[in-house]
Amino acid sequence: MHKLSIIVPCYNEEEVVSKFYQETLAVISNIQDLEYEFLFIDDGSKDHTLDILRLLAYQDKRCHYISFSRNFGKEAAMYAGLKQSCGDFCVIMDADLQHPPELLAPMYQAVSQEGYDCCAGKRIGREGDGFLRGMLSRGFYQVIQRLTHMNMSDGAGDFRMMNRTMADAILQIKEYNRYTKGIFSFVGFETKWLEFQNIPRTAGKTKWNFKSLFSYAFDGILSFSTAPLKLPGILGVLLLLVSALLGGTALAQQILFGRGVDALYLVLAIVVFLSGLQMLMVFILGEYLSKDYLENKKRPIYIVREQS
Ligand code: UDP
Ligand code: MG
Repeated sequence: MHKLSIIVPCYNEEEVVSKFYQETLAVISNIQDLEYEFLFIDDGSKDHTLDILRLLAYQDKRCHYISFSRNFGKEAAMYAGLKQSCGDFCVIMDADLQHPPELLAPMYQAVSQEGYDCCAGKRIGREGDGFLRGMLSRGFYQVIQRLTHMNMSDGAGDFRMMNRTMADAILQIKEYNRYTKGIFSFVGFETKWLEFQNIPRTAGKTKWNFKSLFSYAFDGILSFSTAPLKLPGILGVLLLLVSALLGGTALAQQILFGRGVDALYLVLAIVVFLSGLQMLMVFILGEYLSKDYLENKKRPIYIVREQS
């Protein structure tokens, strides 16, 4: 008999968390030969979420909760949940029922019978998200995909069920600035994708605004790519080319037409040349910095899927 840990980060979710529990319980208790535990992580909620979680834990011994001393963010909550979980399989779900519990049965089928390590939900459509947010998100995923060369597609969120090996691999990645979408991609493993239609929140409010989404997007790029540090290199080469062009023109004027070197051209060429040189020095600094940055994350050098 397998055990499933259902990990649920909750931040100010008093309006939905009970409904989430009931609906998920109805689905999960219909899956044969499966034990389960609910692991709610109260991420420093300021409403009555914690009281509800206490009550659930009191009523149902398969319900557990961890309550943070303040709001640390969903990434920290997911890490804490995985760390606390003891199931053979773990699934991460939002409390607002935007991750349909009906998918739990096919997800469990994929990881327990079909040989996958992970089964992830892929949200299609962005109804309820607003036009601008949808457009910016799509743009962001294109940029991050290019910069990191990792599979982080739009709609592939945190809703996924995984086996213990994969959960342990994720826990091996101890970096403080966690960008879990990138971490899922980094650890690898065989993943099955199940599409589901985007549905609006059942109740309560989203915790995101434009500012936090932008900083999340920026964090994602910074966590998995050092490409921005190469920009001074490109700029430096461009500036050197421009200075060569300016210098060349000044020289050609003198050789071909016998005119004296235009002082303005010369000064401009020297200034641009020196700027280009500076940019190249910054680029070299950036190269050392990026090596040190990645070294400091102490990510595992490899991850084993299976061995005999
Ligand atoms: N959440 C959290 N800590 C936070 C923000 C959000 O634990 O600081 C939880 C939240 O309670 C929910 C999930 O993360 O269960 C997703 O949040 P939300 O629905 O606001 O995000 P969206 O679905 O709009 O992307
Ligand atoms: Mg939501």
